[in-house]
Amino acid sequence: MEKATVVCPYCGAGCKMQMVVDDGKIIKVEAANGKTNQGELCLKGYYGWDFLNDTKLLTPRLREPMIRREKGAPFETVSWDEAIKFVAHRLSDIKAKYGPRSIMTTGSSRGTGNETNFVMQKFARAVLGTNNVDCCARVCHGPSVAGLRATVGNGAMSVSVEDIEKSKCLLIFGYNSADSHPIVARRVVKAKQNGAKIIVCDPRRIEAARIADQHLQLNNGCNVAMVNSFIYTILEENLYNKDYVANYTEGFDALWDVVKDYAPEKVEPITGVPAADVRQAMRTYAKAETAIICWGMGVTQFGQGTETVKSLSTLALLTGQLGRPGAGLAPVRGQNNVQGGCDMGVLPDLFPGYQKVTDAAVREKFAKRWGIDPATMDKENGVKITEVPHLALEGKVKAYYIMGEDPLQTEADLSMVRKGIEALDLLVVQDIFMTKTAEVADVILPSTSWGEHSGVYTCCDRGFQRFFKAVEPKYNVKRDWAIISLIATEMGYPMHYNDEQEIWDELRELCPLYFGATYEKMGEMGHVQWPCPTLEHPGTPILYTDNKFATPSGKGLLFATQWRKPGELIDEDFPMVLCTVREVGHYSCRSMTGNCAALRTLADEPGYVQINPTDAQVLGIKDQQLVWVESRRGKVISRANVSERINRNAVYMTYQWWIGACNELTQDNVDSVTATPETKYCAVKVVAI
Ligand code: SF4
Repeated sequence: MEKATVVCPYCGAGCKMQMVVDDGKIIKVEAANGKTNQGELCLKGYYGWDFLNDTKLLTPRLREPMIRREKGAPFETVSWDEAIKFVAHRLSDIKAKYGPRSIMTTGSSRGTGNETNFVMQKFARAVLGTNNVDCCARVCHGPSVAGLRATVGNGAMSVSVEDIEKSKCLLIFGYNSADSHPIVARRVVKAKQNGAKIIVCDPRRIEAARIADQHLQLNNGCNVAMVNSFIYTILEENLYNKDYVANYTEGFDALWDVVKDYAPEKVEPITGVPAADVRQAMRTYAKAETAIICWGMGVTQFGQGTETVKSLSTLALLTGQLGRPGAGLAPVRGQNNVQGGCDMGVLPDLFPGYQKVTDAAVREKFAKRWGIDPATMDKENGVKITEVPHLALEGKVKAYYIMGEDPLQTEADLSMVRKGIEALDLLVVQDIFMTKTAEVADVILPSTSWGEHSGVYTCCDRGFQRFFKAVEPKYNVKRDWAIISLIATEMGYPMHYNDEQEIWDELRELCPLYFGATYEKMGEMGHVQWPCPTLEHPGTPILYTDNKFATPSGKGLLFATQWRKPGELIDEDFPMVLCTVREVGHYSCRSMTGNCAALRTLADEPGYVQINPTDAQVLGIKDQQLVWVESRRGKVISRANVSERINRNAVYMTYQWWIGACNELTQDNVDSVTATPETKYCAVKVVAI
């Protein structure tokens, strides 16, 4: 028997484990003592691997390259040589005819690793000549990156996962850790056991609310009004840290003008939260020795997602709850390597290491290392994933090279996404399963899965961790970065890497933020957090310990803005709010976890819709009954899950189901800064079948 150290691919907690392999088959998984998981795993970690042994597969694993010679023709299995030539020549033709910006590419946050994401953005920028590269951060924590970069300078968690347990106060806003990151949820429980005050701000009575000192059960769609009432209270009750504000922040004078109309008593009819509770919560937060604000997509997936993040950041800056163990800002990233996708520059505005594509000196540096003429590089920000369907329908995006993403399952307003995908001239899907998007592709490029390759992931607290190959791939598949390299070479840009370390060393050289994070150091320390600028540097568990921020002025920016209603409102025809959430036993589009027997037993098709008992009674719906859920864009079948944890006049669906796909219902309204969809709010009706 052999053991390989891997990092769980199912959420940003970054739990380490050992895969135990016998005769080429994985026989079990053991929890390892990683920095974030300390010898514990959740059920996805323990049971999320059996598809690697090819057992009980519901969805076919992609085993050979395939192409359709023309639209509507069946897939034809071809050699790698033919598939690579087909893609390279079609991309070259489209580039020549319509220009580099007519081609869109994606990185992947699902199991492929930082090295591959680096190679994909290099392919887009150096070979195609476009900044059209993006990743799933666009549909989840894009607003966290933008909001934090604007206010404190780094678009990532300022503390470490272990700080959550050390803090004296946790303000948990729009974040259901029990379903999203079960191992982080354990830290929340441990914080409580250590005497921390827990304040939960969420419309549902989520698990954390059960152990909370206060549950601010706000109405759906009013986050900015809520945070403005927090800021109002901090200012009006003199709860802010005057020295900290004076020395380390800017923008204080403009705050009151915005929040003066958000007295907790005045916004109570909007938020539904008693004013006395808001005031009590802010006294607890501001006076705590240390406090962390944790948030998830209940903050970011709104039209005002970025603005809400900036306002939460402002709370921390006003009170000086930053830059110390147990004090900081914690957007807890969802997919296992979505932090890594951003770190590696699979973003339309940033090179790896958060270096701007609009900066000529940065472009020159990358062009020199990549041996290209900087004049051939795209000088403008590229296209965002959520813009692609619209641009495809306008004829501006002609080709889409998707790696490890499934927009036909995971993006909002699927009927619109479908129309956009159908309008493309070329759709290339590189993946491990026949996903909904792969089904309609022109070309399938089958790649290796986690467990079949090595590399580095970044977990949600900026920690780089190496993971290793446990088993040999069983089919005619290739490593993601090797496929991209072959296409690049066929397109006339020779790209040859021998292994992941060569790629990693190239990106270190180009990114001052990561230069000191060598493979060797990760091997010794297990977990190296950026910034890590020199070979001697141990990494940075906590940002802003010197109260200097990575903003242009070096000061933290205080921010507040007016609350706006969501993009679509309930009415007589569609009287309930639909909010999309996570299912604890499954991950993303479910292509991996949906093919694991134990996880399927836990939760399987069709998906469910969570509804309050009173609403269910009014609608004549019983628990587990099949229902139709309908919005202005579509109608899906689902199963009622009647629960007192759900607030009135709202229903909740997880986005993982193939039958009952809630994104048939969601809307296309997006965050004004990042174009992240407002999947936490649309209008629906629920009808018993
Ligand atoms: Fe850890 Fe997340 Fe994997 Fe669970 S899903 S084992 S919490 S990394």
